[in-house]
Amino acid sequence: MKKLYIVGAGGFGREVFTWASHCAAHQRDWVIAGFLDDHPEALTDKPTPVPWIDRPGTFPLAEDAVFIVAIGNPAIRRQIHCLLRDRGARFVNVIHPTVVLGVGVELGCGIVLAPHAVVSAHARLGDGTVLNLQATVQHDAVVGPWSQVSCHADIGGGAILGAEVLVGTRASVGPRVRVGDGVRIPPATHVDADLASAGPGSQLSGWGQFRKPQNCMDPTRIYLSPPHLEGNEGAALQAVLESGWIAPAGPALGDFEQEFCRLTGVKHAVALTSCTAAIHLALLVAGVQPGDEVLCSSFSFAASANPIRMVGAEPVFIDSEESSWNLDPALLEEAIEGRIRATGRPPKALVLVHIFGQSADLDPISALCERHGVILIEDAAEALGAVYHSRERGDLVPGTIGRIGTFSFNGNKIITSSGGGMLVTADPDLAARALFLATQARDPAPHYQHSTLGFNYRLSNVLAALGRAQLTHLPRRVAARRAIFDTYQRGLGSLPGIAFMPEPAWSRGTRWLSCLTVDPQAFGASRDQVCQALASENIEARPVWKPLHLQPLFAGCPTFGGAVSEAIFQNGLCLPSGSNLTPAHLERILRIFRRSGGHPS
Ligand SMILES: *Cc1c(COP(=O)(O)O)cnc(C)c1O
Repeated sequence: MKKLYIVGAGGFGREVFTWASHCAAHQRDWVIAGFLDDHPEALTDKPTPVPWIDRPGTFPLAEDAVFIVAIGNPAIRRQIHCLLRDRGARFVNVIHPTVVLGVGVELGCGIVLAPHAVVSAHARLGDGTVLNLQATVQHDAVVGPWSQVSCHADIGGGAILGAEVLVGTRASVGPRVRVGDGVRIPPATHVDADLASAGPGSQLSGWGQFRKPQNCMDPTRIYLSPPHLEGNEGAALQAVLESGWIAPAGPALGDFEQEFCRLTGVKHAVALTSCTAAIHLALLVAGVQPGDEVLCSSFSFAASANPIRMVGAEPVFIDSEESSWNLDPALLEEAIEGRIRATGRPPKALVLVHIFGQSADLDPISALCERHGVILIEDAAEALGAVYHSRERGDLVPGTIGRIGTFSFNGNKIITSSGGGMLVTADPDLAARALFLATQARDPAPHYQHSTLGFNYRLSNVLAALGRAQLTHLPRRVAARRAIFDTYQRGLGSLPGIAFMPEPAWSRGTRWLSCLTVDPQAFGASRDQVCQALASENIEARPVWKPLHLQPLFAGCPTFGGAVSEAIFQNGLCLPSGSNLTPAHLERILRIFRRSGGHPS
């Protein structure tokens, strides 16, 4: 571990400290030891996260010390640089944002540039260069020894990296690149083709064929809700691989569950292969038996109701209310009473969906369930990060209010473990039972002994590590999705015939997908025509969920109401809602949307 000293504790030095901290956080082979400055008194009124150490002239140079000279005045910079150089110091450079270096440029040591630099072809970079975040080094450049090419940097084909060069995570390395001794290329780096040569001691850790570095789908297409990778996922995967805990289970699973509990305030969480599996187990541990009836929100994805059939029970569908698009409490009461009249007993359970991340009205719904002994299971697949403002109980977390709740980490959800789900409950016995069933229901015996039908539903430890990395982004993911909804609403909400999914006072949803309805007469184009217009520009938009009571699979199931979700389905549209959408994407979508109805864009 080298110690980095930033020479100059003024404004520039502090800024360089910020960029250098980003590098340190990702690269970890040096730590920022502190500032060197001839005027330590300048620091006293401006506290910094690292201390003033010494004056550059008197600082005892150690073997592990490296320097960035961050002094604005060129004459003083040269003077201090020479002073340190003559004493045998090693320098690192920092490459500045927006800087573009022309073809064939040569750089010596001690130059400070920063994030987003572009270094043109055939450049020669001196020893100890720091190329910051998202820098581009074009083909056939030469990068000197001890340099650092930071996260998301792009190194063109035929480049030569000197000895001990450190390449940051998610950098992209072109074909025929030659690397010197001891060069380290970390996981999640995109190496376009074989390295022409890698010197002794070089480490090429994994992921050598990672073709597209970030959010690795077709970059020309705008997806409905693609995965959003931040960059910490690669390190998390690398760490779990290095730990050896690929299987069975492993510590990342427990950590993921605990962090999930902390985040949602729930007592027990069991990480599973999917939310569908979680709903299946929820019904089993709730004691739903073949022949039982289970109530279910009709306006949802098939995965809310399929597990009801998987346990041999029959779904009874309940329509939405207009104010939230979620299960209508008045119809719930009607349904419970209706089924008691028809069958002599209340339905065993309710699968309550928080659709598009909007909380259903939990106060009256949970009260009705309690009164009639209906077990409340919440399908919060789309609602991780939502809030329910209870009239009596303050703010609650949808998914944690019923007897059991379920969440999804499928690739299109708010955060993803590539695939996965979570079952949560306040009841330790239910959690233990779910874990038992999820891991093949093996009885406690030295041999394989089974007296219960079990399942293989446990999330892999590797995916749990991915889930943990993604979980840290949750608040920002929800904020981004809500901001996207607001942008659409601002851009389209005043057009004739356009109505956005309402948000009642009790709900602060995730806006997992931005949904609206299109009245074809008033707007000038139907939902399907809008969809078509977007599709022809390679933009993915989709109709809202088709109500489950209309699905052929569930034909004939008892249904209460239906007109509300049918009307939403008739004209309802989901617009691209990924938290990684850019303002330019949104502009484009708004323009095409407006134009499709003949409105000026
Ligand atoms: C995605 C989704 C599911 C299923 O989640 P998986 O993790 O993909 O099994 C269930 N219910 C709803 C409402 C969903 O949106």
